[in-house]
Amino acid sequence: MADKHYDYLIVGSGLFGATFAYKAHKAGKRCLVIDKRAHLGGNIYCEEVEGINVHKYGAHIFHTSNKTVWQFVNSIVDFNRYTNSPVANYQGRLYNLPFNMNTFCQMWGVTTPDEAQRIINEQRAEALAHMEGEPQNLEQQALSLVGRDIYERLIKGYTEKQWGRRCTDLPAFIIKRLPVRMVFDNNYFNDDYQGIPIGGYNKLINGLLQGIETRTGADFFKERSYWEAQAHQIVFTGQLDEFFDYRFGALEYRTVNFEQQTLDTANYQGNAVVNYTDANVPYTRIIEHKHFELFGDRVYSMPKTVISREYSTEWKLGMEPYYPINDARNNAIAEQYRTLAQQCKDVIFGGRLAEYKYYDMAPIVEKALGTPLS
Ligand code: FAD
Ligand code: UDP
Repeated sequence: MADKHYDYLIVGSGLFGATFAYKAHKAGKRCLVIDKRAHLGGNIYCEEVEGINVHKYGAHIFHTSNKTVWQFVNSIVDFNRYTNSPVANYQGRLYNLPFNMNTFCQMWGVTTPDEAQRIINEQRAEALAHMEGEPQNLEQQALSLVGRDIYERLIKGYTEKQWGRRCTDLPAFIIKRLPVRMVFDNNYFNDDYQGIPIGGYNKLINGLLQGIETRTGADFFKERSYWEAQAHQIVFTGQLDEFFDYRFGALEYRTVNFEQQTLDTANYQGNAVVNYTDANVPYTRIIEHKHFELFGDRVYSMPKTVISREYSTEWKLGMEPYYPINDARNNAIAEQYRTLAQQCKDVIFGGRLAEYKYYDMAPIVEKALGTPLS
């Protein structure tokens, strides 16, 4: 073992791998970070197009109420004041999200919380009259939370496109985290802190990996025994099932196809995120990337813009795995792999792919910082 060159081989340069590497490097450990992609950063990687940072693997907004995590990421790069306030487009009419007094005013023309509450209560009562006991699926949950009008215009089509399943076949918990606010507040998140790294996410990744050896275009599984011989311990952030040769079967995901376009206009939709909630529009949303970093008139400092239409689709082997499908079948398979993982004493399994769990970025940072060093 003494001839091993590194203390840690870190497989995957996403936020988990990069944060772990930062911590280990600071503690004097010798680290090598490899990634099979041609670039570092995992899913938060941005590509510069026409001077705009394009979120190549989907829009990423950092948000947290964990002050330690917020101070940590800000010690690597300063964050801007971006506040996520998506707009929903339903059949050409626009509604603010999350559901708040602005939405209710646009939906029903009401101007006070009392008037809005009265309509919501009426529609809730109507829904509850047709239900026995607790909501059994997403449709029932949504109807009992916000009533028929909001469900039909802003939830049903979007959710069915996103998940590729009917709302009556989806679990109720998915919709529980959508806030309903009786104040005029379009801030999508309830967290104390949010923003985008000034200069883009690559600055965060490059800051974390500064002074650490990295190799891109290096797939752990293509030369497994070679890589395993390099370090005393492996931090594995790739796919859990692949690590064990899919012996219990492949875990499933939802994936997203991004259709990216550069347009000869400075300001295409006036907002970073516009959701298309009508089932007849094939994409779920359009992201206009410049609005993550340029505010007010600064949007016009660049003559062009880059947009991405997002199409949510079923995942097949070889596609990018995005959202784990945590249904009973997949959870049972994942559990079998986790039992094997616990027996691998020289391997730390971390991050969304190796844990087969959806994590936002802040919890990923928290977990990586909290992973003990040997
Ligand atoms: P990843 O970023 O996926 O990194 C894993 C890395 O491992 C990849 O670079 C991969 O190439 C590499 N790898 C895999 N297998 C191998 C191998 N065999 N050999 C070498 N390298 C390998 N979070 C938020 O907080 N806010 C958001 O707005 C937000 N938006 C999101 C939007 C989408 C569409 C998705 C899918 C996620 C979003 N997230 C968001 C979650 C966020 O992306 C994750 O929390 C974060 O990327 C997880 O980091 P990770 O290091 O675990 O995984
Ligand atoms: N949702 C919706 N309409 C919208 C936005 C979200 O019905 O315009 C629903 C949808 O079911 C989604 C859930 O709310 O799965 C959670 O949305 P959120 O944006 O929090 O999650 P994400 O898309 O990031 O998984």
